[in-house]
Amino acid sequence: MSSILISGGTLLTMDGNRRVIADGAVLVDGSRITKVGKTSEVRKGAKADSEIDVRGMAILPGLIDTHVHLAQALIRGCADDTSLIDWLQKFVWPLQGNFDAEDGKTSAELCMLEMIKSGTTTFLESLLHERYGLSGIAESVQQSGMRGILSKTVMGLPGYGGKTSIMHPGMVEDGETCLRQVEGYFKQWNGRADGRIKVWYGARSLGGCSRELYQGIGEGARRLGTGITMHLNEVQEDARYCKREFGKLPGEFVDEVGLLDSTIVFAHGVWMTEPEWQIFAKKGASIAHCPSSNMKIASGIAPVVEMTRAGVNVGLGCDGGPSNNCYDMVREMKTASLLQKARLLDPLVLNAETTLEMATIKGAKALGLQKEIGSIEAGKKADLILVTLRKPHLVPPLNPVSHIVYAADGADVETVIINGKVIMENRILKTIDEENVMHHANERSAKLLARAGLEIAPKWPMI
Ligand SMILES: [Zn+2]
Repeated sequence: MSSILISGGTLLTMDGNRRVIADGAVLVDGSRITKVGKTSEVRKGAKADSEIDVRGMAILPGLIDTHVHLAQALIRGCADDTSLIDWLQKFVWPLQGNFDAEDGKTSAELCMLEMIKSGTTTFLESLLHERYGLSGIAESVQQSGMRGILSKTVMGLPGYGGKTSIMHPGMVEDGETCLRQVEGYFKQWNGRADGRIKVWYGARSLGGCSRELYQGIGEGARRLGTGITMHLNEVQEDARYCKREFGKLPGEFVDEVGLLDSTIVFAHGVWMTEPEWQIFAKKGASIAHCPSSNMKIASGIAPVVEMTRAGVNVGLGCDGGPSNNCYDMVREMKTASLLQKARLLDPLVLNAETTLEMATIKGAKALGLQKEIGSIEAGKKADLILVTLRKPHLVPPLNPVSHIVYAADGADVETVIINGKVIMENRILKTIDEENVMHHANERSAKLLARAGLEIAPKWPMI
């Protein structure tokens, strides 16, 4: 195991005191951080195998994306300016219903390439259908060096909210089989790649599972000691359907069927109401806020400020290629902050500091990993990113937190370290062949469109 001294940077620790250390340094030994402080102090007695001089740069914890669809990178841009049900039924599902395992792997590699290049070190993938090939994707996570939670889809009904039998046949799976598959993948992959890979339950949204199947998911997660993720309250129809079908609000229903007794992340939470967020605050359930996706599909604006005030833990997510259309958490931070200010006509809400917490330590808490990642502290895993501050849009250096949230984008991330290993250095990937992945993705995408019988063309004439 090698050791690295990262020295001379503006260090945003995100520790309990939220210390920002000018001329700061981090000593990494093997996969963990062993020393944090002023460069002069950290250097004392430290014998590192290599040193990275980061003067003019910020050192941050790696960003944590709490809601990602790896399999949607390959269908980026397939369904712009479309309502949610059309978006799903006419474009996303027919394409994903024609995926094979090679498409799943290629899409995951493209997605991880983009995430690493924009500073994300850990992600929660929410819905891996069987046809995407979870094992091939897990092998790609292992190879990429990223830390990732892979959630295998559990579903039993081909519906979405009150709309029944609308899912593409290629996406439909059987509930009992899904439950068995999660256990199988959990045994095969959970804890692999030096602990970087975990396997969770990916419950399909309301309309996709019966009450009994949700209960089965809750029971399985408790037995295996693993987590659950699920889309919830993304659109208004979720609440109407849940009231009609189960006589409860979505947030009450998921408690009743026992989903809140495990680590759980609900994606979106756009239409959450006070009784629901009170339950979530009490039970420790987290929300993955996806502002770009919610705006683009016109789902609405999540009450992030109110939920946070009530004690709900809220992380950030980029969602997917057709809904965002990129996987850049740095851009997502700015969007999240500005959206709440505009909604509440209050510039004081969701300030830069709280937003950076959502992308780091609160994201870690959502995944139940706050003791391991999310801040730069001795004893934690060495997941770090180095962001340049030497670009015109990042000068003068008045407040690094402000610059990261309001002025930077993912392309300002220069170097990425995950689990103590340098995964990207000066924007060159060490674990993924960038050109090869992009070339392969273009090829697979063309074949996929042909198989699905879809043609996606620019709306303006291309000559
Ligand atoms: Zn999603």
